[in-house]
Amino acid sequence: MKKENILYLVIPCYNEEPVLAETTSRLTDKMERMIKAKLVSPKSKIMYVDDGSKDGTWTLIEKLHKDNKFVEGVKLAKNRGHQNALLAGLMTAKEYADILISMDADLQDDVEVLDDFIKEYDEGSEIVYGVRSSRKKDTFFKRNTAQLFYKLMTKLGVDVVYNHADYRLMSKRAVNELEKYSEVNLFLRGIIPQIGLKTSTVEYERKERFAGESKYPLKKMLGFALEGVLSFSVSPLRIITILGLLISFISFVFLIYVIVGHFVNGNVAGWTTTVALVCFFGGFQILCMGVIGEYIGKIYSETKRRPRYSIEKILSRK
Ligand code: UDP
Ligand code: MG
Repeated sequence: MKKENILYLVIPCYNEEPVLAETTSRLTDKMERMIKAKLVSPKSKIMYVDDGSKDGTWTLIEKLHKDNKFVEGVKLAKNRGHQNALLAGLMTAKEYADILISMDADLQDDVEVLDDFIKEYDEGSEIVYGVRSSRKKDTFFKRNTAQLFYKLMTKLGVDVVYNHADYRLMSKRAVNELEKYSEVNLFLRGIIPQIGLKTSTVEYERKERFAGESKYPLKKMLGFALEGVLSFSVSPLRIITILGLLISFISFVFLIYVIVGHFVNGNVAGWTTTVALVCFFGGFQILCMGVIGEYIGKIYSETKRRPRYSIEKILSRK
């Protein structure tokens, strides 16, 4: 008989009180069906990671843990953001699990494709990416900004899987490899493709959040995109160097023109030109310094080697 693998669903939650009960009942139902079909072991669990929520999320997780044999919980001491919360969950769950699948609490990711994930794993994949087949349900704005983000990332040479968020399966082995990446500026979608191992993808349709609102407003989304670019690509620095060279060359030619003009016609360079140039170079230099500063900021936070999360409590039956 084939060995049944222990599956852990790792779900970061930040202020998800309105959705957790429904999420739990749907996932419990799915778990029971998968266990019955002998896809996963009866020891499989749903692990919620409370990312320092301000509402009653943790109290609810404690209650669900008491009433439901599948539910386990990890409480972070403070809000550390989705990526860190997910990492905390993966690192905790990998001690017990053979297979780990990360998903969001709001059930935007279709739970029915869990079967396909497991199938891919059984066929030898160590990492399986959930890929959205369409973004019809996202708002026009979110769809287009996200599309732009993937295009930009690819252009800048960052290896990301197109239309893949954090709905993915990882084997225990893959998570052990992930543990070796100790960066503080965490962008899992960029790191995981670097691990290697055998990977595959599973398509699903992304649904609407059924309750509560998105915890990724524009500001956080921009921050996340910037994190992705700056943590994985040095091309912005390269672009600046090239631009700098180009502009220096143009300025040099211009300088010769002005000097020659001065001797030939005796005219002084006009006020307008001077002001325009001062403004242009002033702005350009501040921009360049800003980009360099961003990288220095990254180096600063990496060198401190601060922990990426602190776990306050774990609810588990082990
Ligand atoms: N999340 C988190 N910490 C945060 C923000 C979000 O753990 O600081 C979780 C959130 O509870 C959800 C997942 O990350 O399970 C994705 O967030 P959301 O659904 O709000 O993002 P969207 O789907 O709108 O991109
Ligand atoms: Mg969501």
